[in-house]
Amino acid sequence: ELNSLIREIIDLLDLEAQRKTSNVQLQSSMPQIFVNADKQKISQVLINLISNAIHYANREKAQIVIRTNVLKNKVLVNVEDNGMGIKPELLSRIFERFYRVETSRNRNEGGSGLGLAIVKHILEAHGENISVESVYLEGTKFSFMLEKSN
Ligand code: ATP
Ligand code: MG
Repeated sequence: ELNSLIREIIDLLDLEAQRKTSNVQLQSSMPQIFVNADKQKISQVLINLISNAIHYANREKAQIVIRTNVLKNKVLVNVEDNGMGIKPELLSRIFERFYRVETSRNRNEGGSGLGLAIVKHILEAHGENISVESVYLEGTKFSFMLEKSN
């Protein structure tokens, strides 16, 4: 059940950040959404995307919204932040292994540049894609689909 999985992950990341991330919220079109997917792998996808949203967030007033919307046979998942954004010319590179956007902020911080490559790999193994829209200095939205289970 996707919504409870997302809530568990928000709680886990909240604990890690010592409750600094309580501005992460879930919005859903349905109370419960069952999907056909590998639970451990999809947890990893959500952890990588939500950790990025927290990490690259607007430090003063971070807003991170995770949306789950039931479509016909699929569920659309969005992870959206109001953080630093990504320049359009770099957007196609962020799913490459070891690629990190060079900024004064993240140069000195940890991070291997593998998180999004793993996200892409896992979703492709589910027969799905990951897409991204970003406005530099305003925010970023990642979207993917999962198969609804009946
Ligand atoms: P890690 O392997 O620890 O996840 P990482 O976060 O640097 O390291 P990715 O998660 O693959 O690696 O992300 C690649 C790069 O894409 C990041 O270094 C960052 O520059 C950019 N990026 C990813 N998510 C966001 C986001 N939500 N907002 C802005 N930039 C982002
Ligand atoms: Mg990352």
